Amino acid sequence: MRDVVIVGAGLAGSSLAHVLSGLGWDVLLIERRQLPHHKVCGEFLSPESQASLWALGLYDTVAALRPSVMEHARLVSRRGVSLRVPLPGPAWGVSRFALDYALATAARQAGAEVQQGVTVSGVTAVEQGYTVNLRSLEGTSMVQARAVVVACGRNPLPGLRPKTVTTGARPTYVGVKCHYADVTMPSQVDLFLFKGGYVGLSPIEDGRYNLCLLTTRAAFARAGGSAGAMLDAVTRWNPALQQQLAGGQPVPDTEVSVAPVDTGVPAVPWDTVARLGDAAVMIPPLCGDGMAMALRSAEICAPLINDFLHERITLATWQEQYSAAWQREFARPVRTGRQLQALLARAYLSDGLLALGKFLPVLARHLVRATRGQSRPLETVLPLVQQPASQDRNAMIGIPAVQKGDA
Ligand SMILES: Cc1cc2nc3c(=O)[nH]c(=O)nc-3n(C[C@H](O)[C@H](O)[C@H](O)COP(=O)(O)OP(=O)(O)OC[C@H]3O[C@@H](n4cnc5c(N)ncnc54)[C@H](O)[C@@H]3O)c2cc1C
Repeated sequence: MRDVVIVGAGLAGSSLAHVLSGLGWDVLLIERRQLPHHKVCGEFLSPESQASLWALGLYDTVAALRPSVMEHARLVSRRGVSLRVPLPGPAWGVSRFALDYALATAARQAGAEVQQGVTVSGVTAVEQGYTVNLRSLEGTSMVQARAVVVACGRNPLPGLRPKTVTTGARPTYVGVKCHYADVTMPSQVDLFLFKGGYVGLSPIEDGRYNLCLLTTRAAFARAGGSAGAMLDAVTRWNPALQQQLAGGQPVPDTEVSVAPVDTGVPAVPWDTVARLGDAAVMIPPLCGDGMAMALRSAEICAPLINDFLHERITLATWQEQYSAAWQREFARPVRTGRQLQALLARAYLSDGLLALGKFLPVLARHLVRATRGQSRPLETVLPLVQQPASQDRNAMIGIPAVQKGDA
């Protein structure tokens, strides 16, 4: 019987595995893919993330990846109306290829067993804990655990879907991302709107830039129905983006796409077990806060799991306290983020909103704040575990061959 099984080695799963292993628990972290790999993501790690990384003992691990630093965000409408706002603090730009691998490595170094290429197909509550069903190239198997946490991201397999959520008739989106070299732009995150979606462009580590877009299926089909055609089309559809990318060269093997992306699924932070990060809810990507929320949900959950494993609280108390904290922290940013996404999707409203934000910077700053969690100075945050000794970046990142695939 394992102490904890964590499903998914993304930000939420790996950071939780790192803390719980550091606290001495026997942790099994299960990831269906092989790391590292490119993931569809804007790779904008918002200012709030840093406090969570600090608390999770992972600040130095991420700083060692030498992320880019951004202090402003700029929004540009289809008609070229632009608004530049200061971020609530310095944000980091770092590829998911490097970041996810670094966090999973840190979890392993803290003592977690990390199984890659293994898929969790279902979790069942049993008398003394849980049975977790696994599937891999070797066949099927099961593992027993006292506690299970689902951190499998936004598209759970049927066996991990919350019972209360139906897919519904909402429109879904397609996500595409690609890294670029030789781009010249200020160190900021740019968000360009186009008919049917938006594109983010921002610096990451090693002097590279990440372009990531979210688009309706209709716009994807209009562009030609492939990731490459979509990347070509968005530069035509937003002249300001074309100008910004002029001279930029796509980095081979970094183009990935994912569908469907459903940004309207109702939130479920608990269903039989705790759900972290996107497995609980997805905030619209334009807020650039999904990774911060994934890390923060791990930060909130870790002490509760620790207390549960020590038998200081019951499962019901863990559920109650985690769900309440989740609602307190994330319900409002998700609601506001969804409203903002709907507003910016309409050309005349987006122009109006950006123009208004220019004349009322307080309103613009308020909107930025309303879509995100709390900013906490690092000195006020107590680490749950110690930061691992600083890691040799070259030993950790970039040795395995780049793999193509989606998120
Ligand atoms: C187009 C787009 C742009 C975005 N841009 C940004 C941005 O700029 N900034 C930001 O903060 N957020 C952004 N996000 C959101 C961000 O990517 C997510 O919020 C974040 O990745 C959530 O982390 P997670 O750990 O919850 O899930 P994930 O990162 O999705 O990790 C889940 C892991 O679980 C694994 N898994 C899934 N199912 C199973 C299974 N059954 N068994 C075993 N393993 C499994 C997956 O392979 C994956 O590695 C963006 C999202 C999209 C779609």
